[in-house]
Amino acid sequence: MVRLTFLGSGAAEGYPALWCRCERCTTARQRGGRNLRFRSSALVNDDLLIDPGPDMVAAAVRLGQDLAPVQATLVTHPHTDHLEASTFFWRRKGFVGTALPVLDVYASRASINRITRHEGREIAAESIHARLHPIGAFQQLVITTGGEPQPDIRFPEGSQQPPITPLRSYEVRTLGASHAEPAMEPMFFAIRQVAGPEAEGRAAPPTLLYATDTGPFSEEAWTTLRALGEQGWRFDATAIDSTMGLGADSKGHMSLRQMAWHQDELARLGLLSETAQRHAHHFSHNGTPPYEELVAHLAPQNIQPSWDGLVVNL
Ligand SMILES: [Zn+2]
Ligand SMILES: [Zn+2]
Repeated sequence: MVRLTFLGSGAAEGYPALWCRCERCTTARQRGGRNLRFRSSALVNDDLLIDPGPDMVAAAVRLGQDLAPVQATLVTHPHTDHLEASTFFWRRKGFVGTALPVLDVYASRASINRITRHEGREIAAESIHARLHPIGAFQQLVITTGGEPQPDIRFPEGSQQPPITPLRSYEVRTLGASHAEPAMEPMFFAIRQVAGPEAEGRAAPPTLLYATDTGPFSEEAWTTLRALGEQGWRFDATAIDSTMGLGADSKGHMSLRQMAWHQDELARLGLLSETAQRHAHHFSHNGTPPYEELVAHLAPQNIQPSWDGLVVNL
């Protein structure tokens, strides 16, 4: 089974929000647990990281998540709640005591420009053991991870071998998001694992739609999704932006109502597998009820909210 781990599930300001004493934030602090949300980020298996946001250190520490095996990163867009460039800086010599596999980073030009600067300095890709791949919306990628460690890895003196992970192959379609300025090239991702132990013996490849920080899907996005459906793509799990919660509909994010409509439209178009696990994701205290009330609100629609540490098997 493919493991999808939500490392964070909150919007930019966190939930409870950093400076806020509203009723929802106060309730979240009192109840704790699934009410406490870091900024949104997710891990596919142990090797594909989506959105290295500002809470990466906190989430990895809190969840006991080992990120050393990560060999590929997809970045939706360079807003600071989704991309914290220093995350990559901590891969440099002196901050890591063991050898690392090379990390393939797939991100827009704007995101890569952020990753390659730290404290006003230019950062060479090789110093962070990374290969940087500029991508845009509506592209097809094949991401291969795992296998024997690559020869260009520089092993620190006396260090252990990098983690050896099985060979895996992911097909990714980048879809243009309705969010942020065009120069940021905001994207969301359709991902399916076509090779590797999790894909073996499956009638259809395990498939995920990760669609946060987008308003209602554009016509071009729907056209691409319908084309994917014709190619046999069926999502086993979805995670769709729900930033506005019970608040007003939006063009750059979604309310719970808009999110649910998108889940139903995906089903109507035959894009969901029979056992699809449908998730709302990226929550703000401004419109989103506390976790327990949110679960109750979404249950009749067969949708679950994401929470920090949720592991979905697909
Ligand atoms: Zn965001
Ligand atoms: Zn954003």
